[in-house]
Amino acid sequence: MKGLLRPVFFTVVAFLFATLVFAQEEVLDREFMLEDLRKLSHDAAEGRQIGTKGSEAARRYIANSFKTVGLKKLNKGYLHDFSFESRDGKAVQGQNIIGYIKGELETAIVITAHYDGLGVRDGEVYNGADDNASGVAAMLSMMDYIKGYKPRHTIVFAALDGEEVGLRGARALVEDDRVPMDKIILNVNMDMISNNNKNELHIAGTHHYPQLKPFLEKIDTGVIRFKFGHDTPELGNDDWTNSSDHAPFHQKGIPFLYFGVEDHENYHKATDTFENVNKPFFAKVANLILFAILELDKGLD
Ligand SMILES: [Zn+2]
Repeated sequence: MKGLLRPVFFTVVAFLFATLVFAQEEVLDREFMLEDLRKLSHDAAEGRQIGTKGSEAARRYIANSFKTVGLKKLNKGYLHDFSFESRDGKAVQGQNIIGYIKGELETAIVITAHYDGLGVRDGEVYNGADDNASGVAAMLSMMDYIKGYKPRHTIVFAALDGEEVGLRGARALVEDDRVPMDKIILNVNMDMISNNNKNELHIAGTHHYPQLKPFLEKIDTGVIRFKFGHDTPELGNDDWTNSSDHAPFHQKGIPFLYFGVEDHENYHKATDTFENVNKPFFAKVANLILFAILELDKGLD
């Protein structure tokens, strides 16, 4: 091609590319997702501390969403009970919420986000909007989309309890004999995905599982800057390999990808509220993680 047609050709290509990128940017219902985030981090949920009324309210809300989407149940219901002894010797009861969409293959991808939080301290509600109503709200939106998409792998959705007291829900899940661990090929964990003003999202896991990186490169449109390295102690960064619910999966040899923002001024404070969440950033990130999951579902065996 030469002469006058060449710039026209490139303009058309650029336009098509931009449309494609733009069209791919958001498929999740933003209003819906923000409404879930607002409700889960509302004062009425009292910070969702494990074993409290606020936690129960959040759990009911999440289980109800599972039911509305029509997720399949592991046993009789969506609730997965576990218990453990706290540091001061008390028995603590926790409940994960687990449901799944059956794929064509025997193998499964497990998507996790913890719903518990720090609760109420000195009369102040620690709303835990970014940590981690954001991850749960993203998960609830994704369920609906993935249901319509018909995945190759079985996609398990697990809203986990007791993360803040030692990854208890995730540990209970991987230790449960009824869960066929040998069928799980990947854990995608979301924990704090809504509070960042630099358009930066951290992704951990590719240092341990470099085979996962090309999938992330595929969905990288440049809209959000992907940051790697929080799983590589040699880089001198904080190592997040064991810092959230992906850790028990990793310790069982299951590859993981963790998505989350850098710690911020509202982290583990009463100011981690819905008002302080960066809404456009959150919506973009939730969509990107969904696209990553779809690519992984397509490409992994
Ligand atoms: Zn968290």
